[in-house]
Amino acid sequence: MSYNEIRWHPLLGTWVIVASGRATRPWRDVSCPFCPGAPETGYGWDVLSLENRYPSLSRSPRASSARAGYSKSEPGYGVCKVVIETPEHEGDLDAVPYQNLVKYVQVLAKETEELYRDERIKYVAAFRNKGELIGVSLHHPHSQIYALPFIPLKIMIEMSEMKRYRDTTSRCLICDISAEEGAGGARTLYDNDDFTLLLPAFAQWPYECHLYPARHIQLLSQLTQREAERLADMLKVAVAMYNSLYGFSLPYMMVTHQAPNIQDNEHYHLHIEFYPVHRAPDKLKFAAGIEWGYWAFTYDELPENRVRELREALQRGATTLRKNGYSPMGRPAAP
Ligand code: ZN
Ligand code: ZN
Ligand code: FE
Repeated sequence: MSYNEIRWHPLLGTWVIVASGRATRPWRDVSCPFCPGAPETGYGWDVLSLENRYPSLSRSPRASSARAGYSKSEPGYGVCKVVIETPEHEGDLDAVPYQNLVKYVQVLAKETEELYRDERIKYVAAFRNKGELIGVSLHHPHSQIYALPFIPLKIMIEMSEMKRYRDTTSRCLICDISAEEGAGGARTLYDNDDFTLLLPAFAQWPYECHLYPARHIQLLSQLTQREAERLADMLKVAVAMYNSLYGFSLPYMMVTHQAPNIQDNEHYHLHIEFYPVHRAPDKLKFAAGIEWGYWAFTYDELPENRVRELREALQRGATTLRKNGYSPMGRPAAP
């Protein structure tokens, strides 16, 4: 018997997704279910969106009968999908052909649009885990989509901070950060007119980077064709930068932060965040006692010093991309 429910965390004011019966999901050494010709994939595709066979949420959830007076629970209504970015079994986004990446962005946009037609879906989280260090169970390049019946806490906080900023200044927080950093900014890494890649002054992970669209939009589904193309360029360059940092393919989490499926969301500004877990080639940054136990991050270097390292890595990454036949559309910042 498997169950899908969400349980209220009364101390933090958010939900925990509870899904029993996922322990049997495949772990690495089975034949790849995402390669062309596998039962679910077939042939003749370049980017593919599939229902996750081991979903944490379900369109027909079965809630357990467990009760606790201090914690309400609700059926775990939602959708979990996998987006396979390429038929190629190995590699990262920097190796995915540019046209596939454009299509990948458009698939995420289309999924957002379709899932948000269901008013029970309150949030679409599109993210990508890369590398065994992050616990990736299947090597074939892929992203995931969680369509949630609630707004995640981190997004709630960003919503309220962006709203507070707008209420006090009449401006947008991320528009202002972009304007201050922008092309030629102290922490900017790459700029292609429609997007800026930067290491924010308030980074929590050592090599955390943010990707901000120049236009004030809320959702992936609002991207124009040109913006989808420029975002594909950004993803290619950002990932090439990371993979050129230490000379090995760098594990990271990539998360899109878009607005929730609610009416009053115009103050939110869409963006993407990258969190690599290394702090040196042979050392990891752990979210340990102070970070995870208190959500108080420590950053053991001036972020500005890491900007220089990343700018150099980005130049090397751009050179590698050119060698492989791709010309970046934008301007790398000088180290
Ligand atoms: Zn594969
Ligand atoms: Zn904005
Ligand atoms: Fe964010």
